Amino acid sequence: MNRRRFLKTASVAPAAAVASDAFAAPQAGSAMFTSKIVRLNLQHTWTTTMSSSQYRDTLHTTLTRDGITGHGEGAPIVRYHEDAAGAKSAVDGVHDLLLKQDPLHYSKLLAQVFQAIPGNWAGKAAIDIAVMDWVGQKLGVPIYTLFGLDPADTPLTTFSIGIDTPEITKQKTLEAAAYPVLKVKVGLATDEPTIEAVRSVTRKPLRVDANEGWKSKEEAVRKINWLETQGVEFIEQPLPAGMIEEQRWVRSRVHIPIIADEACQRASDIPKLKDAFDGVNIKLDKSGGLLEAHRMIEIAKSLGMKTMLGCMISSSVTVTAAAHLSPLVDFADLDGNLLISNDPFHGVRVDKGKLILPSRPGLGLTPAK
Ligand code: MG
Repeated sequence: MNRRRFLKTASVAPAAAVASDAFAAPQAGSAMFTSKIVRLNLQHTWTTTMSSSQYRDTLHTTLTRDGITGHGEGAPIVRYHEDAAGAKSAVDGVHDLLLKQDPLHYSKLLAQVFQAIPGNWAGKAAIDIAVMDWVGQKLGVPIYTLFGLDPADTPLTTFSIGIDTPEITKQKTLEAAAYPVLKVKVGLATDEPTIEAVRSVTRKPLRVDANEGWKSKEEAVRKINWLETQGVEFIEQPLPAGMIEEQRWVRSRVHIPIIADEACQRASDIPKLKDAFDGVNIKLDKSGGLLEAHRMIEIAKSLGMKTMLGCMISSSVTVTAAAHLSPLVDFADLDGNLLISNDPFHGVRVDKGKLILPSRPGLGLTPAK
């Protein structure tokens, strides 16, 4: 993202102000929808094949009605040509629609939002999550109950290690001692030294994300077969998203599962991926929120594919929302909130890698002190 250009055109709120503003007691009877860009600071410079940054700007929303405030968030994905200013303007464009409809008719309301907003999937997610948080609070149940799920069924989440020098990679691996499964970012020229650095300090199961970094099917097969010898459980998006035929060729020549991420944004993408990948990585910021993510999980399962819930760098709002669906999936990579230093909220927790869902109504968020 061109951050200089972006900062000239958008105001960015400090993260600490978001929770205190948002939890101010709303006036009974008044309906309100707000959106605000929030800067989240990373604990380590975050590098993948896509970019390197020390902070991320995400869009935070609130929907207030009947004395209840629902919170939403979306992390715009540069890979899909989205940024926070564009997400804010898209979301603000449906302000009147959101206040006109009864949020309890959330399926109808969110279908209308999807129709009214072209693209801007992170913006749609920020609305969907705020609406569903409001609905859960209004009905007095956690979001996992709205979907009929048992919070005891949450999977372990991985903790992600971004691309860095071998020394810092070792240090990050040691810092991740509390997490029983790690996800390591690769896809640049340093794949082998990166994995060797991790393996020099731990024998934990690893999952590897190449973020489209390998450019030929031969390179992908060579790297994946080497990674299998290093105790890697599965690989995410080895080749560029458009290389579906090459991906099918790769799949027939390796043993460990391959999960689609960049190649899989929404439900309609899944059927064509069936023979090329073993599973899909679903993210609320790609899908446009909880309802579409739930649809994707069901479609992938119906096709016999593995399911994974992932996230972008974001606060506990989006990560907690995704975690409420996690009892449905095989794998979780829900650590975006653990990588930042100024999370405005508390929500889902992680205990020895296992996701612990709040049992309060809606998302179950509380403001960070
Ligand atoms: Mg990925």
